[in-house]
Amino acid sequence: MVRTRFAPSPTGFLHIGGARTALFAWAYARHFAGTFILRIEDTDLERSTPEAVQAILDGMKWLSLDPDEGPFFQTQRMDRYRQVIARMLTEGTAYRCWSSPGELDAMREAQRAQGLKPRYDGRWRPENSKGYAPPAGVQPVVRFRNPEGGAVVWNDLVKGPISISNDELDDLVIARSDDTPTYNFCVVVDDLDMQITHVIRGDDHVNNTPRQINILKALGGVPPSYGHVPMIHGDDGQKLSKRHGAVSVMQYDEDGFLPEAVINYLARLGWSHGDDEVFSRTDLVAWFDGSHLSNSPSQFDTGKLRWLNQQYLKRADDAWLAAAIRPRLICAGVHAVALAGRDAPDLSHVCALLKDRAATLNELADSAHMFYADPRPRAEDLAVHLTEAVRPALGTLAALLRDAAWTREAVQAALKQALAAHALKMPQLAIPVRLLVFGLAQTPSVDACLALLSRERVIERLLAPPNPQA
Ligand code: GLU
Repeated sequence: MVRTRFAPSPTGFLHIGGARTALFAWAYARHFAGTFILRIEDTDLERSTPEAVQAILDGMKWLSLDPDEGPFFQTQRMDRYRQVIARMLTEGTAYRCWSSPGELDAMREAQRAQGLKPRYDGRWRPENSKGYAPPAGVQPVVRFRNPEGGAVVWNDLVKGPISISNDELDDLVIARSDDTPTYNFCVVVDDLDMQITHVIRGDDHVNNTPRQINILKALGGVPPSYGHVPMIHGDDGQKLSKRHGAVSVMQYDEDGFLPEAVINYLARLGWSHGDDEVFSRTDLVAWFDGSHLSNSPSQFDTGKLRWLNQQYLKRADDAWLAAAIRPRLICAGVHAVALAGRDAPDLSHVCALLKDRAATLNELADSAHMFYADPRPRAEDLAVHLTEAVRPALGTLAALLRDAAWTREAVQAALKQALAAHALKMPQLAIPVRLLVFGLAQTPSVDACLALLSRERVIERLLAPPNPQA
């Protein structure tokens, strides 16, 4: 039974990198019909906040990365960590160390002076400290007794075989002098207790893995498989920062991206399935078996995310899109009454017309705005396009529209007839019509746009004096 976990430290929101790690762990569990666990690593009390916990939960919910178990909180498991430390002290896989920080500094200094790599020299290991009296008034730390000789070896799901000599590894502090357990130790106890079979995480943790494997083995556990996914860089090759989009995934919601598009995009950051670019969550789960994970950093590309989002908007159901942009239109100042009014255009028809041109829900809402607002053309546009030559044609058009069937084709026929009657070319009429009816010089095809409004409204606007922007 596959059991994976996502183990964020709640020191900020869920950003793109964290969401990608969560997605991979989630998809791997789903692929093997396993269990996906959420564990909040909140032992760093100074940096962890309840707001960050909530932001992580919100982000995962938005992306529908639902855990099967958890969230578990490390701060609620302190007794368990202390219990395991007590057991290790009894079994001799850990020992107390009374070296003061000053003493450790001096030790490292001396090692450097001899050209050696600085590391704890094991002076408080029981066999080395026989007869030492613990210094008075010093609270000891607890150190893990790292194995000597040999190497820690694992076959990383992403990076392939990795071998780290035990000589490289210190006797790690697993409990501080104030009795609090340290990060690497908590991770091990949790991974063991939660019976994690596959650890998928960022490769900034690769140095922790040999230490964690040694502790796990000392506790009689079988190490899980590890897969360390490379970092995500910005499109300029630099470490991902806010500037590049390392913002909360919820920002993408605010900006009008669809969670399914973001999931699709994240899946392609460091993983591939042939040339497939647009695929569903179901496809991802069917394909994501731990192979084809890339061992090089991936680059975040906002243009690609926008393109993908556009593909999802194009395929989306019009009524669904209408419901999705309705609150955005209201936020942008469109009155709910204007949206629902008797002769207001049906928002799903508006979406059908506009969705091919929008990359985000916000862009779609922006372009839908003109159907629900009073037209406020720019005075300079009116001066250029609403000429004396064109005014009579507007009257003709209004008269023709009064009797036309109210379809796009009929509106187009009326436009053509008015052009012919006044010897005008299409833009000479279409631009002033747009300005008068929608307040804009450019819109999608004018006949389709007009046909979405009511006949009465179109005629009234064609004939009424324009109300230019101040
Ligand atoms: N808490 C760690 C982090 O937020 C992840 C630890 C792990 O996955 O083992 O980076």
